[in-house]
Amino acid sequence: MNDLDPTLQCVFQTVLDRNPGEAEFHQAVREVLESLNVVVARHPEYVEGSIIERLCEPERQLMFRVPWTDDQGNIHINRGFRVEFNSALGPFKGGLRFHPTVNLGIVKFLGFEQIFKNALTGLPIGGGKGGSDFDPKGRSDAEVMRFCQSLMTELYRHIGEYTDVPAGDIGVGGREIGYLFGQYKRITNRYESGVLTGKGLSYGGSQVRTEATGYGTVIFAREMLATRNLELSGRRVIVSGSGNVAIYAAQKAQQLGAQVVACSDSGGYVVDEDGIDVDLLRQVKEVDRGRLTDYAAQRPRATHHTEGNVWQVPAEIALPCATQNELDGDAAKALVANGVIAVAEGANMPCTPDAVSILTENDVLFAPGKAANAGGVATSALEMQQNASRDSWHFDHTEQRLDQIMVDVHKRCAEAADTYGQPGNYVAGANISSFMQVADAMLAHGVI
Ligand code: NDP
Repeated sequence: MNDLDPTLQCVFQTVLDRNPGEAEFHQAVREVLESLNVVVARHPEYVEGSIIERLCEPERQLMFRVPWTDDQGNIHINRGFRVEFNSALGPFKGGLRFHPTVNLGIVKFLGFEQIFKNALTGLPIGGGKGGSDFDPKGRSDAEVMRFCQSLMTELYRHIGEYTDVPAGDIGVGGREIGYLFGQYKRITNRYESGVLTGKGLSYGGSQVRTEATGYGTVIFAREMLATRNLELSGRRVIVSGSGNVAIYAAQKAQQLGAQVVACSDSGGYVVDEDGIDVDLLRQVKEVDRGRLTDYAAQRPRATHHTEGNVWQVPAEIALPCATQNELDGDAAKALVANGVIAVAEGANMPCTPDAVSILTENDVLFAPGKAANAGGVATSALEMQQNASRDSWHFDHTEQRLDQIMVDVHKRCAEAADTYGQPGNYVAGANISSFMQVADAMLAHGVI
C-alpha cells in the first residue's frame, strides 16, 4: 500500500468514517486515491473544487423492500439497491447483481468503479450499480420472474433512458433483463428500449453484448502483450468463473489461438488439457444452468477439483472472471512461480491489493478490471445508440466497434501512465485518465 498525499488521506479518512463496515468500497476508493497522488500535485484545481470528496459520495442511494412469493406460496423479503453514483458524463449506467452476498458496500464499490470504467470507454455514460441479495440459484423461471417484477415495481420510478440505465451482472443475464424490461413496459406504458441494456435480440438488444465483456478483456490482454512484442497465440490460459464473462473470454482467447485449459465456479474448478470446449460449457452453464461437474462428466480428459483453486494450474495468462477478491497474495505467488506473464481482470476487483503488488513487482503485465472489462458497458452504450436511432447493427460491425474501443481504452491507460511517469502501470493509467475526464466535467458543471 502506498502512502497518500495529506489531502487525499483526509478524503479517505472521511470515506472510512462515513461508510463504516464497507470494506470493498474502502478498498476501491483507496486504490483510486493512491493513483491520484501525482495528479493533485499537478492540478490544484481538483482539490480546490473538492472534486475528490464529491466523487466519493454517491449522488443518490436507494434501498428498498422486494417481497415475492415462491412456487409453494411462501413469501420472501429481499432487499433491492440502486446506487446512482455519478452522472457527470451521462446517465447513470451499470449492472444489477443478484447474489446472496450483495449489500450496500458491495454495490457502492461496484458503482464507484463503474464511474471510471465508463469514462475510459470514451462514451457518454455516468456510473451506477444496483442489485439484490436474492439468490436465483435453484429457483424456477416463474420464481425469478416474480422476483424481477417485484424489484422493477419499485425501481421503475428511478430509472429511464436519460436518467439511469441498468444492465446485467452476476446472476442477471438475458432471462432476468427480459422480465425486468417486460415489467417496466407494463407499468410505465412506454416502449422505452434504452432503459435497460443486455436485452434479447428480438426486442432491442445488441449483437455482441453477450460476448462483449469477455471478448473485451482478451482484446485488452492482446494489446498489453503487444507492447512487449508478445502474442496470445499458442499460450496456456486459465480463466476463473464459468459465467457470462468467463465463457466469452475463453472463446475469444481460443479464437486468437490460445489454449484455455481451466475454468471454475463456486463449487471448484475443471482442468481440461484438450482445451475447454466452450460450446459444451455454454450448454451446461447457460442452457442447463448446471455445474462444472456436469461439464467434466462429458469430457474424457477433464478433471474436476474441489481442493485448492484454479490459480494453481500452470499458465502464462490468467483471466480472473468470477468475483471480487478471488485472487489473493498466495494465488499471485503461485501464478508467478508457474511463469505467468499477464493477468487481465474480467471481473470487478478480483485481485486483492496484495496480489496486484506481487504481480507487478514480478513484472507481470496487469490489467485492472475497470479497463480490461470495459467492453461490456461500452457495448451497452452501443446498444443505447442503436435503440436511440431505431437501428440494429450486424455482428461483425459491432465487434469491430468493440475491438476499436478496447484498443482506445488500452491507449488511454498507457498514455496517462507515461504522462505521469509510470510507464506500463495500467492501474495508475486507468485511474488517472478516467478521473481527469470526470473531474473536468464536474468542474464545468459547478458545485452540484
Ligand atoms: P455470472 O453470474 O454470469 O457468472 C459468475 C461466475 O462467477 C459463475 O461461474 C459463479 O459461479 C462465479 N462466482 C460468482 N460469485 C462467486 C463467489 N462468491 N465465489 C466463487 N465463484 C463465484 O456473472 P458475470 O460473468 O456476468 O460476472 C462476473 C464478474 O464480471 C463480476 O465481477 C462482474 O461484476 C464482472 N463484470 C460483468 C460484466 C458483464 O457484462 N456481465 C461487465 C463487467 C464486469 P457459480 O455459478 O457457482 O455461482
